Amino acid sequence: MDKKRILSGVQPTGRLHIGNYIGALSVWTKEQDQFDGLYCVVDMHAFTIPEKISPVKLKKKVWETVAIYIACGIDPVKSTIFIQSMVPQHSELAWYLTCVTPMGWLDQMVQFKSKSASNETIGTGLYSYPILQAADILLYDTSFVPVGDDQKQHIELTRDIAKRFNHMFGKVFRVPQPMIREVGARIMALDDPDVKMSKSTGELKIGHSIGVVDDSDIIIKAIKSAKTDSGHEVSFDNGGPGVKNLLTIHQAITGWSDDAVRNHFNGKSYGFLKSEVAESVVEGLRPIREKYNALMQEPSYLSRIATEGAERAQSIARLKLYTVKEALGIDF
Ligand code: ATP
Ligand code: MG
Repeated sequence: MDKKRILSGVQPTGRLHIGNYIGALSVWTKEQDQFDGLYCVVDMHAFTIPEKISPVKLKKKVWETVAIYIACGIDPVKSTIFIQSMVPQHSELAWYLTCVTPMGWLDQMVQFKSKSASNETIGTGLYSYPILQAADILLYDTSFVPVGDDQKQHIELTRDIAKRFNHMFGKVFRVPQPMIREVGARIMALDDPDVKMSKSTGELKIGHSIGVVDDSDIIIKAIKSAKTDSGHEVSFDNGGPGVKNLLTIHQAITGWSDDAVRNHFNGKSYGFLKSEVAESVVEGLRPIREKYNALMQEPSYLSRIATEGAERAQSIARLKLYTVKEALGIDF
């Protein structure tokens, strides 16, 4: 039997952080033997706030993201790594889906509300990009989409769009499901544990995030300066959001059970908690950073992986788009 398919992606914006790793990439690597995984660098999504990204920087970020995927453990032999813009079917399908998506549905998207609040000139793309994301997923008959908790609403929208299209034009799309881990699906910012850690903010604010390929001393400094609260003793069950976040990071990186974390940290000082978390994160990310640094010396290898990945992705996407156009009566 064919393996069920997984698809997910990261935008090549800002500094890829430990939240992206725990919430998304660590799940991708864990599942790659059981599923047919397609992992794209969603460069077209990075245009949603065009003021924030220059062409030179965007290109650099795309290659860094390809290297990080491999460094985190995505095996290009088992899984498909590709760059979204190299597969033009994504934007074509997005147009057809745009026409069947009620504006009222997009009005509900909280991510648009939070991202547009901090920008004065908002492009229409920031509003409609969840539809491009739906196209990314639906093009590949995806069964599962491993993402962080913040993307749950967009996957729900994808499901609604697929069902509406199927209702209007016949059963064309598989309706996908989110795959969200229990511990670590939403890693919070170190400097403000009430907001999620985010790539774009992490690039602007020192102490906001832990970069996946940051040097050890930077990681240690960021964790030591993480915001906690006025208490003194760690409590696994009743800690404030900053303490809870550090415990979650530790647990996600080490894979320890609730009881193991509770027994190790309860009653200990915040200083002890920070030292232990810093050590587990530095050790957990070390092999990723080393592999990443080596891969960045091999641009022709990265380019070959992306070209082969795009060829495979296109071979699936072309057929699916044909089915869509047939259903719409525009299969010329
Ligand atoms: P941006 O600020 O540019 O939106 P981001 O950090 O939100 O960056 P994305 O590229 O939007 O990153 O998301 C990539 C993947 O990482 C998604 O699956 C998303 O759900 C997940 N993710 C993002 N932030 C976190 C977080 N803080 N904790 C867990 N998962 C996260
Ligand atoms: Mg995001």
